Amino acid sequence: MLSVTKIYNSCPIIFRNRQRQGSGSPYVYIDVMPGWLPLVSDLCAELEQVAHVQMANGVTQAELPSVRSIKTKFCQLRCSISGRNIDHLIACYCEKAKHICEQCSSDINTGILEFNETYLLLCERCVMQFRSRL
Ligand SMILES: [Zn+2]
Repeated sequence: MLSVTKIYNSCPIIFRNRQRQGSGSPYVYIDVMPGWLPLVSDLCAELEQVAHVQMANGVTQAELPSVRSIKTKFCQLRCSISGRNIDHLIACYCEKAKHICEQCSSDINTGILEFNETYLLLCERCVMQFRSRL
């Protein structure tokens, strides 16, 4: 199963600065709902690939892509990632995320559901499941 840890482990270059954090609670680099994990995993895999190519071309460690955070805010994918020539790639994934259910990854009939000042981007089926639990 896809997990955040699995994504960290499969992308050692772009998450190379992860270990530098001090003690205490571990810093969260990826914080999205389960439905967006496949999308985030694909984004990270592409960034890792870009990093490999850049490394082969002599780009210095400091300039290689490095993830600070990938999070959800108001149903939008927010990425804080440093590096060269990666803005277009990131923008492309942020655009894709606008249509993907945060719960189940479906991209069919998704819409924003507001509940107690919390916003969720859900497909029709997940909205129905959500409402039936209330
Ligand atoms: Zn759904």
